[in-house]
Amino acid sequence: MKKINIAVDGVSSSGKSTMAKDLAKIIGYLYIDSGAMYRAVTLYCLQNGLINDDKTINEEKLKAELPNIHIHFELDTETGRPITFLNNENVEAEIRGMEVSALVSPVSAIGFLRKEMVKQQQEMSLKKGVVMDGRDIGTVVFPNAELKIFVTASPEIRAKRRVDELRTRGNEDTTYEEVLENIKYRDHHDRNRTESPLRKADDAIELDNSSINIEQQLQWAVDMYHKTIGKQDGNNRDR
Ligand code: C5P
Repeated sequence: MKKINIAVDGVSSSGKSTMAKDLAKIIGYLYIDSGAMYRAVTLYCLQNGLINDDKTINEEKLKAELPNIHIHFELDTETGRPITFLNNENVEAEIRGMEVSALVSPVSAIGFLRKEMVKQQQEMSLKKGVVMDGRDIGTVVFPNAELKIFVTASPEIRAKRRVDELRTRGNEDTTYEEVLENIKYRDHHDRNRTESPLRKADDAIELDNSSINIEQQLQWAVDMYHKTIGKQDGNNRDR
């Protein structure tokens, strides 16, 4: 069967990664978490003194150090989910913490960094059969993706879900208010930056998942995939 690329974009903590990961697993595609790449670069900045006292990024130093930053993914054989590696070190847990979340938006707004990340993301997807999630996948990384999904939900619902997730991972310290504030801050920052701002691609299908659960959302995505593949096969037959 012909393979396609699937772009999943949307606001922070909207459950798009969960949907993208599970969809990829069901249809046998490769899942790529582009946010994890920006998070890993942010962690590198924190570990290597690239954050200035006023919380801005030392862009000159980052540019010089870009060739030293190597990110790759490996599949966790137990969970079937990808693990993020930064310079061959498993950083999956660290990149999900609040310290990285608080700084990832300004890091991901840096133009030369986005250019490099987009190049790597496109290289990983040349053979098709990829589900990638992020903010600019349908608009910049895969402008020709056969299926584009844009996920939204209210900030309050997203904050509640994120806190529940942090609790199941054993994080009892982060408060709901802290998470809600970070979500609103990232929404604003991601939507209003000059470099590849978050926006729905004109040909993306929007899903507001505020009132549906994970299983219903996944079923919706699987249906969209089958519909798209059906159309593709139809197009190929008509040629
Ligand atoms: O998806 P996730 O919330 O883990 O992404 C972390 C941050 O990385 C986002 O808040 C956004 O600022 C940035 N990002 C981006 N472009 C992407 C993916 C993520 O700017 N394709």
